[in-house]
Amino acid sequence: MVTAVYPGSFDPMTRGHLDIVTRASHLFDQLVVAVVRNPNKAPLLTLQQRVQLIQTCIQQSERPITNVTVQPFEGLTIDFAAAAGAEVIVRGLRAVSDFEFEFKMSQMNKTLNPCVETLFMMASLEHQFLSSSVVKEVARYGGDISKAVPPAVETLLKEHYQGGLCTLPVASVP
Ligand code: ADP
Repeated sequence: MVTAVYPGSFDPMTRGHLDIVTRASHLFDQLVVAVVRNPNKAPLLTLQQRVQLIQTCIQQSERPITNVTVQPFEGLTIDFAAAAGAEVIVRGLRAVSDFEFEFKMSQMNKTLNPCVETLFMMASLEHQFLSSSVVKEVARYGGDISKAVPPAVETLLKEHYQGGLCTLPVASVP
């Protein structure tokens, strides 16, 4: 049985992330979406909100996804992967922008633990220029993000930025 970990901030999950989750879920027996708590970043959504939102997006996905779990973590991804019994770390690659950072990170992870392989999956053509930060910027000014994020994310961001019923606390950095 091969387990893979797909780590990231997912602040919030986009259709690009969900596409990687869906495709990776077909390649591995178990996929763990690992949501990082990074004390150096101030995310829009709390760790708990990001985890719950990903779970909802997976449940509501057009294609059923059954072998994926979502877990929060803090610390080194490579340590989380080893503790989860994963042999593979999955990362998404968009156009040229991600390559340099991802290449360095994968080399470092290989040095830290040679038993865990990093596997890159190319972003689908329609998601090449999609990022969580662009989504937040568009949503902030009331733009249409329906093609960029799953419906649950769209609802949450709209409510947040339009001052609706749901108010998201900006996660505090300890
Ligand atoms: P980070 O891990 O740097 O905090 P994200 O949470 O945004 O970044 O992304 C997690 C992973 O998903 C990374 O491997 C990133 O390259 C990948 N990714 C981000 N956006 C997309 C996209 N539109 N299509 C495919 N993969 C993506």
